Parts: sequence; C-alpha cells; structure tokens
Amino acid sequence: GIPKLNDAALLRNQAYVNGAWIGAESTFDVTNPADGATLASVPNLGADDARRAIDAANAAFPAWAAKTAKERAGILRAWFDLMIAHADDLAALMTAEQGKPVAEAKGEVMYGASFVEWFAEEAKRVSGDVPASTWADKRMVVLKQPVGVCAAITPWNFPIAMITRKVAPAIAAGCTIVLKPAEQTPLSALALAELAQRAGFPAGVINILTADSQRSIEVGRVLCDSPIVRHLSFTGSTPVGRILMQQCAPTIKKLGLELGGHAPFIVFEDADIDAAVEGALVSKYRNAGQTCVCTNRFYVHDAVYDSFVAKLAEGAKKIKVGNGFEQGVSQGPLIDDQAIGKVKDHVADAVAKGAKLLAGGKLHALGGQFYEPTVLADVTGDMKIMQEETFGPVAAVTRFTTEEEVIAAANDTEFGLASYFYSRDIGRVWRVAEKLDYGMVGINTGIISNEVGPFGGVKQSGLGREGSKYGIDEYLEIKYLCMGGV
Ligand code: ADP
Repeated sequence: GIPKLNDAALLRNQAYVNGAWIGAESTFDVTNPADGATLASVPNLGADDARRAIDAANAAFPAWAAKTAKERAGILRAWFDLMIAHADDLAALMTAEQGKPVAEAKGEVMYGASFVEWFAEEAKRVSGDVPASTWADKRMVVLKQPVGVCAAITPWNFPIAMITRKVAPAIAAGCTIVLKPAEQTPLSALALAELAQRAGFPAGVINILTADSQRSIEVGRVLCDSPIVRHLSFTGSTPVGRILMQQCAPTIKKLGLELGGHAPFIVFEDADIDAAVEGALVSKYRNAGQTCVCTNRFYVHDAVYDSFVAKLAEGAKKIKVGNGFEQGVSQGPLIDDQAIGKVKDHVADAVAKGAKLLAGGKLHALGGQFYEPTVLADVTGDMKIMQEETFGPVAAVTRFTTEEEVIAAANDTEFGLASYFYSRDIGRVWRVAEKLDYGMVGINTGIISNEVGPFGGVKQSGLGREGSKYGIDEYLEIKYLCMGGV
C-alpha cells in the first residue's frame, strides 16, 4: 500500500474540475508496479466530463487572463512553496504508483517544482515590442496575450515534472488548462491539484481529469476536437503524438509535442573514460531506463572500447534493484508487463543476432516487473534495439573508428531528442555538437534536464520547447497593433 503520509489529505481519489472534487459512476484501480497491490481507485471520466472541464476552463479564462502577471506569479509561488513543503509526501506517492526509488522521486519533485518557481518568475517578464514604424503618421506595437484554454496529456515516467512543465507556463501566461494525466500515475497529479487548490487558484484555472487507458482515448478526442481548446501539449510516444496531431488538424490547434527519443551516446578516444562510464550509468539506468532522454545506443571508439564496456558492465552489476522504498535501491520495477515484454524482445533479438551479454540479460530474481541492469556489447545496426526505443535498463554498445562515421550513425534515425558525447578536444566538441541532429546535446555529462535549459526535440521527436525562457512563448499569441492618425 501507500506509506503513511505526513498529510493524509494529499491522497485524493476524486478528480478536480472547476475547483471541486468530482467522482464518476465507474472507477479504475491504481496499482504499485513493485508488487501489483492496489493503492486506490480513481474516477474513470469520459467525454461529457471532458466537455464540462473545457467549459469550466473557458469560463475561468477571462478573469485569470485579466489578473496582473504579478498576481498570477504570487499564486504560482504559493503552489511552489507547498510542493517543497510536502516534497516527502509527493515523493512517497510517486514511488508507490510509479516505482522509482524514493530518492529519485524526491529529486523529481524538486525538479517538477522548479518549473513552477521558474514560470512564476517568467510570468512577470513577458513583454512585447515597439518596432520602428515605416510610416511617419503611424505607430506599431506588438502585444503578447495568452492563447486561451489549453489542454495537456502527460505520461507516467515523470508523474509530476511532466505536469508542471506544461501547467506552470500555461497559467503563468494567463491561460487556463485541462489536464489528463497518465492512467498509471493519477495520484501524483491529484496531489498537485490538492496543493493548487490550497495555493488559491480560482476555480476552473486548473482542471484534472482521470481516465483509464480506454477512456483516455475518448477524453483525448474531446480535447483535440474542441474549438475552445487553442493549444494541446503532449508528452508521450511518437505514434500517439501522430494521432493527436491529426486529431488537432481540423481546429488548427497549436501543438507542443515531446515524443520519443533514441539517444546516442558517443565516447571518443580522447574522452575521460571513467567520467564517460559514470555519465553512461546515469543516462542509461536512471528511472530504470524509462525516460525519453535515456541513452539507447552507445558508440565507443575502437581504442577505448574494451575498457569502456568492461567498466560499464562492472557499474551495471553494482546497481541495486528492488522496491523503491528500500534503502540503497537505485533501480525500481518497470511500469508494466508490456514494458518487460519489450525489453525481453530487444535483448533476445540482439543476442540472436550476435550481441554479447556482459551484464544482466534476464528478469531479476525478484520476478514481477523487475529486470536486471543489462549491458550488450558488439551490437550491430540491424538489431531492434538500435532502431526502436527500448525504455528499459539495457545498454547496447557498438564500436566505431572515425568521427564522420559515428556522426552519420548517430543521426541515422527518425528521432532527434537528446544526444550525448564525451571528448576533451575543444575543436571536436564544437564540430560534433553542431553536426548532431538533436534538440539537446549533453557534452561530457549524462544529465541535462533542468528548468532553465530548453527541452525538446527535432525531427519526429516533437515540436516546441519546454522550460527555459522559451517555454512560455508556446502559450502566448503575438498581436500586432498598427495605430494611424498619430
Ligand atoms: P507511454 O508509452 O509512455 O504510455 P503513451 O503515448 O501511450 O506513452 O501515453 C502517454 C499519454 O497519452 C497517457 O496519458 C495516455 O493515457 C495518453 N494516450 C494514449 N493514447 C491516447 C490517445 N489515442 N488519445 C489520447 N491520449 C492517449
């Protein structure tokens, strides 16, 4: 079950619409991926509830947009302070429903809260322009205004951060929002709603709809179809992103899409190998490999290959797997059986095609949804793991000899989210960074995410950027005023 919370009211089993807690005729269970235990049942809402939530957000919009940025910033700041004050409870709820180790969950709470703090500040810095007019008797002014009612659909791998990274900039800009969190992790979302209510957001500014996987499709369709909703932000898989983009075409919605990745991690011969191994371990095994910026492919120069793979395998074997609440555990369970199935498939395919297993390679002794931290060496381009997103704790390592060859291999994918490389040659650092077709490049580091850097991908990894000074632009329209008779 759920460990005892300091503030029991953070465990909510109702959804939050128009400032009120609502139920539904039917509910669905939220389970703990570590042991399958049922944690809670939450409302299984549908199309009508989605329409009501959109109407509530629409009704709340004019007054919220009319508040000063400083007023909105104050409420966002209060929400941030509450998240920090309740960080331990939020982390406990997250570990219970998502599985990540509690220290990592706490890290996500802080990371998630940082977006609320950041956009509370950024709200006050939205400004337009006064371009030099080309007419002597006319003046030109550029205003920025909130786009209107927004919708967001978020995944289970970061149950808090993926919500705040969308909701905070939207409401900072003066928009109102309807959010549909992942069916696996609604409790974190509802705890955020409870804290938002305490922070003092007016009714209808933030609305959270819970739905199971079937009903999520129905709710998603209503959010996409609605002409009232002017912006949809989605984080999830590329196939679902394509569906949502298509569904948003009739209403020409603005879109923010954070989709799949297939991050390459290149280790050049001049790299600090121990640092590269350390970066590789965090980039690969964090959240049990279930992040869209996790490395999927390691390319290691021939001259340092043997030592790198040996050290990586040694590091992988040291990772303690178990229930995220247990002391010293740094890798929890995968989210569900389907996730385990994909990992098994990628490993079996690679081994059948000649890859060498240097660590792990099978279900963990704990059984269930626990999988061993795995290292596969001598991987080749024809293996599934080199093309499809694995979303699990499997490192696939291959050898290269020239810079040109490895850049071509790294870019040979439909994805373009995160990439990483290790080198101490300053010329190479610039060259390679400029040539990688990715939205983000980690250089001599395996961790790149924070609230200040623009997060997002190119190619089929998505549209737009989240966080950073650019993140609020997604939720602002530009209006041009041309004033004659001056
Ligand atoms: P993941 O593989 O991370 O579960 P998905 O893209 O399947 O990624 O899911 C991410 C989010 O998208 C979840 O909130 C899920 O409920 C939602 N979702 C999945 N399919 C659809 C759909 N057809 N329409 C709307 N939302 C969907």
